[in-house]
Amino acid sequence: MSGHGSQVVTERAFDALIIDLDGVVYTGALPIEGAAEGINTAREDGLRILFMTNNAAKMPADVVSHLESVGVAASPDEVLTSSQVAAAYVVSELGDDIEAGRVLAVGGPGVSYALNEVGISPMLPSQIGSDGPSQPFVAIVQGYGPQLRVTDLHEAGLAVNAGALWVATNTDATLPTPRGMVPGNGALVAAVAHGTGATPVVVGKPQPFAYEMALKRLGLPAERVLAIGDRLDTDIDGAIAANVPAALVLTGVNTAADAHARPSQDQPTLIAAGIPELRATWLGEDPVSG
Ligand SMILES: [Mg+2]
Repeated sequence: MSGHGSQVVTERAFDALIIDLDGVVYTGALPIEGAAEGINTAREDGLRILFMTNNAAKMPADVVSHLESVGVAASPDEVLTSSQVAAAYVVSELGDDIEAGRVLAVGGPGVSYALNEVGISPMLPSQIGSDGPSQPFVAIVQGYGPQLRVTDLHEAGLAVNAGALWVATNTDATLPTPRGMVPGNGALVAAVAHGTGATPVVVGKPQPFAYEMALKRLGLPAERVLAIGDRLDTDIDGAIAANVPAALVLTGVNTAADAHARPSQDQPTLIAAGIPELRATWLGEDPVSG
């Protein structure tokens, strides 16, 4: 090669990024510095983006609005919520030919939206009369919803006791709010577990099912995708379980010291200050080991 300088053209190392949201792109309503720019650069470099969140309450279009409010352009098909993962799990277990009203949706609008998206017409706790449902539920999907009532958890417990497949979108113990951490979906799932003695199937991060679904959506093998997250116990553990290379960014919950304190098999593939600092990695200029 000659004539146009000595620029070395390397082969891009990754074709897509799976990006966590809270603590990576924004903290509540506030943008994380450099994140929007880093995501735009990745797009210009030809990478595809999938935003994957354990937040089950929101619909993908709401997540897009949130992203736009912090300067990140996105489309709903670039968003994968844990409610969508849960809906896909119900279909994988029970098929997509489920009679209307046989799946109970407990949570915010994101839960029922995701079920509708896969062709399941769910019933909401508020639609159940005092005599209970006319037919027993075959499944219940439980995700977070800020308007959840105690009686919604009653219906969840009754459905679990009656033998419905119980799918929890995620079991994050806490949920970040502008005033601090509050009990998250994991706490509400624990209430139903405590009151029934049953254990749900959990599908969100760190379960590999969430990442496998993300890879399916992207149509890429695990080694061509870089997962980016701020939490070791969800983002990084889930990626490791699904054999997806994982970058811990230091803009959210966990520190580099937290990562270094873990056994070697639980280490992220790499640690970076934020998304922009990962560019050399996705371009293949800074090869990752392992
Ligand atoms: Mg996060």
